[in-house]
Amino acid sequence: MPVNLLEFDLEHLSEYCESLGEKRFRATQLFRWIHQRGASSFDQMTDLAKSLRQKLELNCSVTPLKVLSRQNSKDGTIKWLFDVGGGDAVETVFIPEDDRATLCISSQAGCAVGCVFCSTGHQGFSRNLTTAEILSQLWFVEHTLRLEFAKTERIISNVVMMGMGEPLQNYTALIPALKTMLSDHGYGISRRRLTVSTSGVVPMIERLGNDAPVALAVSLHAPNDALRDRLVPLNKKYPLAELRHACEEYLKVAPRDFITFEYCMLSGVNDSLSHAQELLDWLRPGGASQNRHLPAKINLIPFNPFPASGLLCSSSQVVKEFAQVLLNAGIVTTIRKTRGDDIDAACGQLAGEVLDRTDVNARMTKQKIIPLRPVEVN
Ligand code: SAH
Ligand code: SF4
Repeated sequence: MPVNLLEFDLEHLSEYCESLGEKRFRATQLFRWIHQRGASSFDQMTDLAKSLRQKLELNCSVTPLKVLSRQNSKDGTIKWLFDVGGGDAVETVFIPEDDRATLCISSQAGCAVGCVFCSTGHQGFSRNLTTAEILSQLWFVEHTLRLEFAKTERIISNVVMMGMGEPLQNYTALIPALKTMLSDHGYGISRRRLTVSTSGVVPMIERLGNDAPVALAVSLHAPNDALRDRLVPLNKKYPLAELRHACEEYLKVAPRDFITFEYCMLSGVNDSLSHAQELLDWLRPGGASQNRHLPAKINLIPFNPFPASGLLCSSSQVVKEFAQVLLNAGIVTTIRKTRGDDIDAACGQLAGEVLDRTDVNARMTKQKIIPLRPVEVN
């Protein structure tokens, strides 16, 4: 099997070049060809010595994931389904906006955390993606769209690890992928524009702060342990007090001076005004009596329903009232707009439908899902 060069960050590629008897700096040239220019054939790399190109040809490849399908939404969102073998597929979503373009990347086929409101969670866990499979999503979409839009400059400005899977449960593969995204010789994405979203794998939050301190989003969804244990089962292992402590520590190295907390609005479950008040109390590290709260931005996500969840989205009025409690306390709060809902590309709808083996997801694709479309509050 040839070595897939999408597997390496620059440091690893330099070591690999050395192992081929080449100078380390050759790796920088090679890395730029692959990631900045989207080259997949060594013939194209005309400024590399012929002898090196021959060695690479013999030993390596640049092999992205195979595309199973692509869907274009009316709002410009594009969703790809990639084949990862063994009957599994992962999804990647491109979300263009006026001032940026975001790519939402998957980190695992399925997910082991099993949050009750998430269709990926219902699907169960298949396997971790490799670094090459994570990076391949960015490599493929960036260079495909550059050709399509006839652009030479970078298209994707932001990356969010918010597709399928829990990125911090695939840490070893994640870090080289993040490093390549951040590298000036790779995609040059700033730390502020690269977000890892986690359901709260506490020890890995600390390690992320050391290895690649990018923007952090924490999927909270509940303001007390009893409720969070039910919604996000990982909470039983890493309860809210530990999670808050990890967030406080992370703020010391974070590229932004706040942490984003995601909160999926579930009708009659976590959306009452007393839940909002409890959430405010949780944000005060010294307890409810303290005035200072954890620097936080709260992102309220209208739940995207799917039949097997048995859950419903809160009404837009309830979402607005919940947001108002937080805003009144001075917390920056937004209500997420749903994008790409006509192609099931919205949060929590990513379940790799085409190859799905579960009834849950087969049913999901048949049902037309019409999420609410609230306006941004802030
Ligand atoms: N595993 C990571 C990242 C992927 S999930 C995490 O949980 O953070 C990305 C976001 O989508 C999370 O905030 C998740 O809670 C949210 N989400 C999952 N299912 C959803 C659904 N059905 N409706 C709305 N948001 C959902
Ligand atoms: Fe996994 Fe995130 Fe879905 Fe929870 S919300 S099941 S952690 S992908």
